[in-house]
Amino acid sequence: MRYLDKHLLSRRSFCLCCVGATYAATGGWLTPRQAYAEARGLVSLIKDSAAAVPIKTFKLRNNITVLEGSGGNIAVLTGSDGKVLVDGGIGVSRARVTEALATLSSEPVTHLINTHWHFDHADGNDWLHSAGAKIIAQENTRKHLSGIQRVEDWDYNFLPLGPGGIPSEVFSDAHGVKLNGASIVLKHYGRAHTDSDISVTFAEANVVHVGDTFWNGIYPFIDYSTGGSIDGMIAASDANLASTNDDTIIIPGHGKPVSNRTELQAFRDMLVAIRDNVARLKKQGRTRDETVAAKPTAAFDAKWGQFVIDPGFFTRLVYEGV
Ligand SMILES: [Zn+2]
Repeated sequence: MRYLDKHLLSRRSFCLCCVGATYAATGGWLTPRQAYAEARGLVSLIKDSAAAVPIKTFKLRNNITVLEGSGGNIAVLTGSDGKVLVDGGIGVSRARVTEALATLSSEPVTHLINTHWHFDHADGNDWLHSAGAKIIAQENTRKHLSGIQRVEDWDYNFLPLGPGGIPSEVFSDAHGVKLNGASIVLKHYGRAHTDSDISVTFAEANVVHVGDTFWNGIYPFIDYSTGGSIDGMIAASDANLASTNDDTIIIPGHGKPVSNRTELQAFRDMLVAIRDNVARLKKQGRTRDETVAAKPTAAFDAKWGQFVIDPGFFTRLVYEGV
C-alpha cells in the first residue's frame, strides 16, 4: 500500500506548464509514447530543480508575502488564525518552504487555497494537509484531483492525490472567508487556463493572486484538456483588469511574482494581438504547421518567448482555440 501511494504520487508529478520544454527539445509534436517517456524524464528534472532551488521571499503589505521557487508563486497571509497559503507548490520543496514559512511567523499553516488543479500548484496539498491545513478550492479542482485526469495530447493519465490532499471545502462561483482580520474573496473565472481557476483577493490590502490566468512576462500554458482556451484566457485578463486599480498588487501564477496593472495590461494586449494573427492565418486555410512557420508571434518573442512555452508551442496552443 505504501509503495502504491508513492507510485501514484510520482506518476502524478508531471508539470503541465513545462510541456513546452518537451516540444522545444524535439522540434515537433511527440508521439504519445515518446511524450510519455519525455514526461517521465521531465518529472525528475522538475522535482530535482524544485528540491534544489532556494525559496525567495517578497514581503507585500498587510502581513502578505509571496514565496517564489516551488512551482507556481505562493502567497502567504500570517496572523493569529494561522497561516493562510494560496497554492502549495511542489511537494519536494517541503523543507525549503517550511524554512521560508518559519521566517515569517511562528503560527502553523491552517488554511490552503488552490488557484487550480495543476501539479505545480497543488502537489504540496498532501504535506500541507498533514501539517494541519484545511484545503479550499473551486469544485472542478476537487474533481480533477479526485479522479484519473486524462491529458489527451500526451496520452497521459494523472492519478488522484491522496485523500488528505483533496480539497475538503469547495464552491461553484464565489466564496468568502474572514481570517487574520482579512476579507478573502475567492472567485471562479469560468473556463480560462483550465475550468478550475479562481482569483483570491485580499480586500483590505488590495492584493490579488490571479493564478495561471496571468504569466508575468512569459507566454502562458493553456490546458485545453481540462477546459482552458485562448478566449477564456483573454476573458480572464479582462476580468482581472476590471477588478483591479493602479494600486493593486497582482500576484501572477508564474513569472516575476510582484506585479501590477500595467504589466497585466501588456499581457492581455499580447494575447489579443497573437490571437488575431493566428485566427487570420487559420481563416486563410493554413495548417497548424504553416501557421507556426508564418511566425505570428514574432513581434512578441524577444520579451515573452524566453520561458518553457516557446513561440512555436504557444502558436499551437492559440491555433487550437480559434
Ligand atoms: Zn497551471
